[in-house]
Amino acid sequence: MLNVQNNLSGLPALSFPTFMGCDLSADFDNAALDVVVTGVPFDLATTIRPGTRFGPAAIRQATAHLDWELCRWPWKFRVFDKLRVIDCGDLSFDPTAGEQMVVGLQSHAAHILAAGKSMLTLGGDHFITLPLLRAHAKKHGPLALIHFDAHTDSEKDQGPLNHGTMFYHAVQEGLLAPERSVQIGIRTEYDRTGHKFTVLDAGWVMDHNAHAIIKEIRRVVGDCPAYLTFDIDCLDPAFAPGTGTPVVGGLSTDLALKIMRGLVGCKLVGMDVVEVCPPYDHCEITSLAAATLGLEFLYVLAADRKENWK
Ligand code: MN
Ligand code: MN
Repeated sequence: MLNVQNNLSGLPALSFPTFMGCDLSADFDNAALDVVVTGVPFDLATTIRPGTRFGPAAIRQATAHLDWELCRWPWKFRVFDKLRVIDCGDLSFDPTAGEQMVVGLQSHAAHILAAGKSMLTLGGDHFITLPLLRAHAKKHGPLALIHFDAHTDSEKDQGPLNHGTMFYHAVQEGLLAPERSVQIGIRTEYDRTGHKFTVLDAGWVMDHNAHAIIKEIRRVVGDCPAYLTFDIDCLDPAFAPGTGTPVVGGLSTDLALKIMRGLVGCKLVGMDVVEVCPPYDHCEITSLAAATLGLEFLYVLAADRKENWK
């Protein structure tokens, strides 16, 4: 919760739910700024259960469970001592016009990246990743994709606005380095001709420990700039019931967090966490998982700063 100063003496203090209580601001050009959090309340590309337009608000609300802990376990430093982070609110667009979101989000991201800042984006369905990749690839060149999901989202010929197609288009557009890209937790049928990504399917992941999984991700990604996209349906529905296309047999939150922490030293240039669908959630299980994964990304970024290695 962001505490808001009340200039009228004698009246109670006010608060507003931002991500981790970060300042609500759109001052992207601030020299001291490191990371911008943006919500994208979009679900027009969903194929089964709608409702991810409510995801950003639920994820922010769930950070109330996290923002009391100054130094998140098991990290040994306070993330906001190292990173200056703002929450700029939600991208605004006509909720009936998907293309307007696509154009608007790419433009929004390009502005933030041109100012030299990193992005943490809260979905929204997974289609939001395509305009984010366009903006990130324009700045960094073809990216390694670190993609957590139950689905490969690399289908072709599924229509212009479908959350199962982004990574087919991303490869066609030259946004990704497929040989440096890895998909983790896949447990649905996919077109093996659609891409050349390394797939660590759910069976393989469950048969290995976090150390081995991290080692394989790092081997594939190497030193290529990497974009991390976390579809919350990578987690088992026991750990993330509130999502549009749940698939049983997935990762636990514990394993996902361990893998995330193992990405220190990878050149992460941005992250999104997508597909949180609050109408199907219970007790904030899913939104809290997404909030925690987003926070772990901030810790990984902070840990990558050289001063933290001293
Ligand atoms: Mn999925
Ligand atoms: Mn997905």
